[in-house]
Amino acid sequence: MLTPERLSLNTATVKKQWGLRECVDGCVRHGLGGIAPWRDVLHAAGVDEGAKMIRDSGLGVSGLCRGGWYTAEGALTDAVLDDNKRAVDEAVAIGAACLVMVVGGLAPGSRDIAGARAIVTEGLGRTLDYARSVGMKIAIEPLHPMYAADRACVNTLGQTLDICDQLGDGVGAAVDVYHVWWDPEILPQIVRAGPERLMAFHLCDWLVPTRDLLTDRGMMGDGVIDLKGLRAAVEASGFAGLNEVEIFSELDWWKRDADEVLATIVERGRTAC
Ligand code: ZN
Repeated sequence: MLTPERLSLNTATVKKQWGLRECVDGCVRHGLGGIAPWRDVLHAAGVDEGAKMIRDSGLGVSGLCRGGWYTAEGALTDAVLDDNKRAVDEAVAIGAACLVMVVGGLAPGSRDIAGARAIVTEGLGRTLDYARSVGMKIAIEPLHPMYAADRACVNTLGQTLDICDQLGDGVGAAVDVYHVWWDPEILPQIVRAGPERLMAFHLCDWLVPTRDLLTDRGMMGDGVIDLKGLRAAVEASGFAGLNEVEIFSELDWWKRDADEVLATIVERGRTAC
């Protein structure tokens, strides 16, 4: 059971309904403990204004979504690295617990996934050098392997931790149940991660059938993921952060009144997590 103050709202959950101001006010109204803005939502509000808005609300910030996309231009370019630096600065500005990284898939036109992973590891290392200098943590989000080509070529928690082992301090994982629930290695890898590297925990559910692989995530309790088991595992391994609710739902939750969405999140926190 999760009481609302242990929940955080990822703004993508109500991206069709609310901007940052409404999200902040909605979180406060429903008693949530935190928020995790996406960069586009933060930019729309203005970084300084958004940071002040969040600070004044007293909400925690479970993460900023997102940096990464190192393979977008086929090689590490200044544009890619600079954008990640800006993302680090924005995460610092809003007091985020970490900057979440969706690392990028294959380079355009490429069949070289090993090459993509090499670009990603090097890029993460470059961003990490800067992030360490300003005290921001970098959380790599492994994505379900169905996104390996177009979104992220880091696809399991084990692979994520191998990269972390290589890069050293200040980098860890954002564990999103949607991406990792199926992995036979997930429980031992959560133990391996430990408290320092478990930087974020994202909640939603896996619907059967899933009608769209990107935008048909389920509300907690409506699908087949062992949410209670995974949460127990990350907590046993030392994760003490907010439980971030991140639901992309073109067909359902993005169509509903956002206050109904938040009320349902609060209820499912208590009953399904
Ligand atoms: Zn996530």
